[in-house]
Amino acid sequence: CGIVGYIGNQDAKAILIKGLEKLEYRGYDSSGIALLNERGSHIYKEQGRIAALNDVIDQQETALVGIGHTRWATHGRPSRRNAHPHQSNSGRFTIVHNGVIENFEEIKRQFLSGVPFASDTDTEVIVQLMEKLVESGLEVEEAFRQLLVTMKGSYAVALLDNEDIHTIYVGKNKSPLLIGLGQDFHVIASDAMAMLQLTNQFVELMDEEMVILRQHSKTIKTLSGELMQRRPFQVKLDA
Ligand code: GLU
Repeated sequence: CGIVGYIGNQDAKAILIKGLEKLEYRGYDSSGIALLNERGSHIYKEQGRIAALNDVIDQQETALVGIGHTRWATHGRPSRRNAHPHQSNSGRFTIVHNGVIENFEEIKRQFLSGVPFASDTDTEVIVQLMEKLVESGLEVEEAFRQLLVTMKGSYAVALLDNEDIHTIYVGKNKSPLLIGLGQDFHVIASDAMAMLQLTNQFVELMDEEMVILRQHSKTIKTLSGELMQRRPFQVKLDA
């Protein structure tokens, strides 16, 4: 299981699919992608192999931003309905998540009573909470920070906002996550392998860090709001 993401000037679709194929060795039961453009977010997901996902993707839809996921079910059986990406009820926020949210039941009880759910996953709970936090009046970045502070457990997450097609919000705790650097793009991946066809320059994220990722910028912060600078490292492949 793992996540990928792309923001740049090329069509994200093929890049995400190729990245997910490279993550296949980690094992998965379903997969999905979300593409974000001026018309909103477009979600394609399917149980089974990446080839099955490829069959359901609308090849006419193009986007310069997207996120993808291969799932190893922990909460909710393997199915299309439980496959990621998951969306908040208004459709505004879209998330992929690798890991386990240990306090998802508490979050549901405390903050989301009466909210209908479209899946049985721990992941959907956090995207619904994201929407609640924004509805309560918080800016998206601050809502995302509070979301990560509230979530306990392991996660690599990437979040899209329909109202901002220039940003991917990224968070990490106890699940691996790298940012790949390119001339005109940024990528994210659970494993460098997924993005080596695009770049060999990566920045590692540490636990309890978040990133505001745009085509030409990456802002890394701790969950208490401190800005972090980190040098990239180069991945060398031995043939
Ligand atoms: N806990 C999440 C789920 O069951 C994510 C699992 C994963 O890491 O693939 O949907």
